[in-house]
Amino acid sequence: MFIGHFGVGLAAKKLAPRTSLGTLFFAAQFLDLIWPIFLLLGLEHVRIAPGITRMSPFDFCDYPISHSLLTSVGWALLVGGLYYAIRRNWNDALIVGLAVPSHWVLDLLVHRPDLPLWPGGPKFGWGLWNYWVPEIVLEVAIFATGIWLYLDITRARDHIGRYAFWALMGFSFIGWVASLLAGAPPGVRSMAWGALSMWIVIPGRGGPTNIAKQSRKIPESIRARNFTSSFLR
Ligand SMILES: [Zn+2]
Repeated sequence: MFIGHFGVGLAAKKLAPRTSLGTLFFAAQFLDLIWPIFLLLGLEHVRIAPGITRMSPFDFCDYPISHSLLTSVGWALLVGGLYYAIRRNWNDALIVGLAVPSHWVLDLLVHRPDLPLWPGGPKFGWGLWNYWVPEIVLEVAIFATGIWLYLDITRARDHIGRYAFWALMGFSFIGWVASLLAGAPPGVRSMAWGALSMWIVIPGRGGPTNIAKQSRKIPESIRARNFTSSFLR
């Protein structure tokens, strides 16, 4: 699962319109953002095993800190809690927090039974990575739905915003296709360093999600309220 996680981040904008897309991507991808760090520290392990599933050459033999359901809830409390500490908005903090374990749920659909409920606990995974067509249809559907919901609640501030948004979507899509076609990487360490490049989705000035930032459409309810108050004045 790759662009499916981005689809969740895009869709979450509908529920938390004030939250930046970078933050929503960060939350939806959080488990995969910390995973390469634990790999490089030697705390989690992965084997490169071409053919273990049809679409992914990785044997995720040991990743209890980043990818157990229980720890993902812990990471959700941390990320959502930090967001609340900064922004002081329960709704948005809840959506940001929920986006974190959404990653585990989507991974559950595609992984082999390698996702533990808790560190050392029973492992689950429904193995959609063994079926090219349904996996690709599912992932494209989640991504496309996310884009649709995102565009429904935002509008581009200018041409740069519009092109940057579609460039970011295209870049993500092509990156996903390339990863499917690339086959097995040469080694775990180089793969882990490569995976760290995903931190580029972090919110920040000059970052791709910030350049692609869209303004919120003004909700009908607010427009109506303004109209009423000016009428009564
Ligand atoms: Zn993952």
